[in-house]
Amino acid sequence: MHKVEEFQTMLKDVAKIKCLKDLDRPVQIIEDGKTFEENALIKARSLYNVLHEPVISDDSGLEVDAMDGAPGVYSARFMGEDTSYVIKNQAIMDAVKGKTKAARYVCVIAYIDSDGKEKTYRGTIEGEIYHEAVGEHGFGYDPIFYYPPFGTTLANVSEEMKNSVSHRGKALELFLKDMEENV
Ligand code: IMP
Repeated sequence: MHKVEEFQTMLKDVAKIKCLKDLDRPVQIIEDGKTFEENALIKARSLYNVLHEPVISDDSGLEVDAMDGAPGVYSARFMGEDTSYVIKNQAIMDAVKGKTKAARYVCVIAYIDSDGKEKTYRGTIEGEIYHEAVGEHGFGYDPIFYYPPFGTTLANVSEEMKNSVSHRGKALELFLKDMEENV
C-alpha cells in the first residue's frame, strides 16, 4: 500500500491509481521470476489477463553488494514476509559489517497497453547501508538506506524528497516520458 501511495503522490492528478485491493475479485500472482523485469511482467500479465485494460505494475527491491545482490527480488520475502523490518534491517547491517556498504534500490515498472503490448522501465538509486536505522518516513529498508547527496537515510527525509531521487520516481519518469512521446 505504501508503494501505491508513492505512485499517487508522484502522479498527482494525472491518474487515479487503483490497485489489487480495489478489484472485486482476487487475482492470483505467482511471483517466480529471477529478475525485476520478469516479476514486473508476471504481475502486469496476471492483471491484464483479468482486466484487458492498460495496466502498470512495479517490482522493486534492495541489492546489497556485500550480500552478492541479496535480498534483490526477494526483498519483500527476505527472512519471511511476516518478519519485521526492524529485524530485517538489523540482519543487513550485521551482514555488511567490515565489508563494502554499497547498495542500491531497483524498481522496474511494467506496462501493458490496451493491445497487450509490453514494455518495462528501470530506475535505480545508489546508496549505502548505514550503521544504524534512522528516520520515520518511507517504509521497508529506508531507515538503513543512506543516500550520500542527502547526508542521511531515505527514511529521514520527506516523501517528496525521496520521490525526487528514488528508483520508483526514476522508473515512473521514464514511463511518463515514453507515454508523452509515443502514445
Ligand atoms: P515487491 O512488492 O515484490 O516489488 O517487493 C518490494 C520490496 O522491496 C518491498 O517490500 C521492500 O522490502 C523493498 N523495497 C522496494 N522499494 C522500496 C523502497 O522504496 N523503500 C524500502 N523498501 C523498498
